[in-house]
Amino acid sequence: MTAGLALALAVQLAQAPPRDTLAYAVALSFAGRSLSVEARHTNASGAPLTLAAPPAAPRAGTTVAGIGATDDRGVPLPLTRNGRTYRVEPRGPGPIRFRYRLTIRDPVAQGSTGAGFDSTRFYAVSAGIFVAPDPTALRKSGTAYPVTRIGVIAPPGWHVVTGYPRQGELYAPDGGDELLGATVAAAPDFRVYRDSAAGAAFTVAIRGRRYFSDSALTAVVRASLHKSTEALGPPPVARITYTSDMGRKGRTSGSLQGAGSIGLMWEPGELLERARTHDTFHETLHLWFGGAMETERWWTEGVTDYFAARLYASWYGDPAELAALCFESYYHYLNIDHHARLTMAQETRQAMGGDNTELLVYRKGMLAGLLLDAAIRRGTDGRASLDSVARRVLDLARDRRSRAVREAELRDAVREIGGASAGRVWDRVVAGTAPLEINDISAALQAVTGRSFAAPERPKRRKTFDDARGG
Ligand SMILES: [Zn+2]
Repeated sequence: MTAGLALALAVQLAQAPPRDTLAYAVALSFAGRSLSVEARHTNASGAPLTLAAPPAAPRAGTTVAGIGATDDRGVPLPLTRNGRTYRVEPRGPGPIRFRYRLTIRDPVAQGSTGAGFDSTRFYAVSAGIFVAPDPTALRKSGTAYPVTRIGVIAPPGWHVVTGYPRQGELYAPDGGDELLGATVAAAPDFRVYRDSAAGAAFTVAIRGRRYFSDSALTAVVRASLHKSTEALGPPPVARITYTSDMGRKGRTSGSLQGAGSIGLMWEPGELLERARTHDTFHETLHLWFGGAMETERWWTEGVTDYFAARLYASWYGDPAELAALCFESYYHYLNIDHHARLTMAQETRQAMGGDNTELLVYRKGMLAGLLLDAAIRRGTDGRASLDSVARRVLDLARDRRSRAVREAELRDAVREIGGASAGRVWDRVVAGTAPLEINDISAALQAVTGRSFAAPERPKRRKTFDDARGG
């Protein structure tokens, strides 16, 4: 760096308004299965500090108790509660300290968006833990989010795994979304693997014993990142954390927290079979669909599921895997009562509940991905595919603060890239409710893979997988 450049940088730094800092110390306390959280906010302006209760607390099974605030000398400051927000009134500029206890209902997390704490392990999502300034409220008021530091104090010998930078490092969250968007876990027996893919560093932290090796899971994670990058471009974040923990029997679950933190909850003794490998690809693809880009759920879940199936089959080296997953999806689609009554967007508007076998956004959404991919390939003599559409809409999202792409923009991209025939598939499958036929699936598989597949027998019910994208 030249002296002139250094001087210019120094002047720029001096002119930048000072940002408040916010440091958290999170101590795991076995007594009462709780966390003791202490925070210090520098509060240079002396303005009242507004804090929000953890947005995902009810779903995560966490409860905030005993919240109080003081100045740096321990003198209590007035704190009022209004719904899920707390307001601290300082006596003037100067640090505000606040503390609370967070009780955790379950010894074992109910799923990857839940929280669990017992004498052997701790697992939670940060949106279920932190009383913090509300990122959206600060953005609206044009105030920069404080530069945040998080330290997790775990018992001796426990390994702390978080989606944050290293323990205790200061970082400047983009609107606080990173603060609330991570998994936070600790246990003595986490086994940690570090690697990189397409310029992104990733960590896989695994605990618990199942019927596969750690190297098998890290290979799947690595493959999912490489294959997704080939199809969609480089990972949207520079640092990705996979936290693989063991939940309860019958509960398998995965989710993306924030932009780069993936929680995978397995059941004891589980096999790394086709379904779970596919699920792991699905969660990795959420870095792009759901992380870097937000849109209709049938795309962020269903089309994600299609990409996951196609990329997994390509890595596995057998297009029959893609066919098996698509036919399975078709049979589940037929079992959904409203499959010929509602569009996928209407189903979302009606806020229907159900797991990933019971909702059109997953099952028909996956088939929509397949049928659109096939139509685009046919309509362009193989020069384009659904990947071209995906890259175009990811480009749209990149320039937007909201990261949101409208359904009409997806449709326009499909028509422009795939032509009139792809537009007709859109009208029928996405905009329409006409039932899909098994032959539609077979023909599309042929167009995508170049091979023909006979539809299998209608399979038994697939094991339920609980999937969610965290906020
Ligand atoms: Zn998902």
